[in-house]
Amino acid sequence: MTDFYQTLGVARGATQEEIKKAYRKNAIKYHPDKNQGDPKAEAKFKEISEAYEVLSDEKKRQMYDQFGADAVRGAAGMGGGGGGHGGFSSMEEALRTFMGAFGGGGSTGGSGGIFESMFGFESEEAETGRPGASKKMNLTITFEEAVRGIEKDVALNTFQTCGTCSGTGARSPSHIKKCMRCNGAGQVHQTRGFFSMATTCPQCYGRGDVITEACPTCEGEGRVKEKQRITIKVPAGVDNGMRLRMGGYGDAGEAGGPPGDLYVFITVEPHEVFERQGDDVLLELPISFAEAALGCKKEIPSPLGKSCRITIPEGTQSGKVLRVRNEGAPNVHGQGHGDLLAKIVVETPVRLSDKQKKLLEDFAKLEKENNSPRKQSFLGKVKGFFTGC
Ligand SMILES: [Zn+2]
Ligand SMILES: [Zn+2]
Repeated sequence: MTDFYQTLGVARGATQEEIKKAYRKNAIKYHPDKNQGDPKAEAKFKEISEAYEVLSDEKKRQMYDQFGADAVRGAAGMGGGGGGHGGFSSMEEALRTFMGAFGGGGSTGGSGGIFESMFGFESEEAETGRPGASKKMNLTITFEEAVRGIEKDVALNTFQTCGTCSGTGARSPSHIKKCMRCNGAGQVHQTRGFFSMATTCPQCYGRGDVITEACPTCEGEGRVKEKQRITIKVPAGVDNGMRLRMGGYGDAGEAGGPPGDLYVFITVEPHEVFERQGDDVLLELPISFAEAALGCKKEIPSPLGKSCRITIPEGTQSGKVLRVRNEGAPNVHGQGHGDLLAKIVVETPVRLSDKQKKLLEDFAKLEKENNSPRKQSFLGKVKGFFTGC
């Protein structure tokens, strides 16, 4: 009866840190490089590697705690085929685990480099399932919501890890068997001319194991499509056309692969008064001809709901932009605020009474050339065009 905890010399409640430490100590001690031609050391090395392979993976560890060594041997694609005495079927697998625990590098007697090129990369490939697909969705919010930030609850249809089989896709752990085609490696080697090429195993698609009976809930996929309610935190200052990335909110991965991300594309509804220009916010401020000529003070609203007092100096022209510092939209990355820009629009008076007309006529009689410098400058420029007429 194999006891992985005993093999590594750790308690049943050992932390991952303790497990790794124990494995490293033992693995170095029994490494075949240090014990050449010693079959006992080799067997021990395989044993501790297998124990580590299982206990270092919380999913496998849980399965082992619950169902025993045979369950994880099936699931991990080990032993099984090789005479039934358990453990790793080959030294290659044991060394692969060794490389994994040492971060793929070579800290043992200079031969690490060879391990790395032979096994390091492959082991990563074989252990990682396909990542889930990323999702995108559109979210329309109001101008105010964009400026102030908002939390929105939305429903999404995504693939979630199947609860029945914990994502394995198998009816039970004993329905997972090592792939015979690739011997659990997830890759097969093909020889083409001089070259030997490793390709993903066509039988198990790189998983290294095959399912003999599928989970009835997910039909073997390990994931089920489910409606999920999530809260999207839209940060203050977000603008039309921006994209929020919510890591891990996409589809669940396949065969233990990482989940995809959710991309939220933001549409901001146009506002009646305000218009974003980056972090600055522009509004058009109509003032009367008299206010423009004489100067005045005005209250204007800020996008954050404040009231700002601005001074319009006398002689202000239509189209002039007055700037109120730091009253624009907050920067979405928290870099302060933009400015509030008031674009002056001088409104020509309409529907005048007789008295108003009379006053304007009197005013016009008193107008001097330097009251309208632009008009004079314009007339000066175009004068030449009329001489031929
Ligand atoms: Zn295979
Ligand atoms: Zn399932």
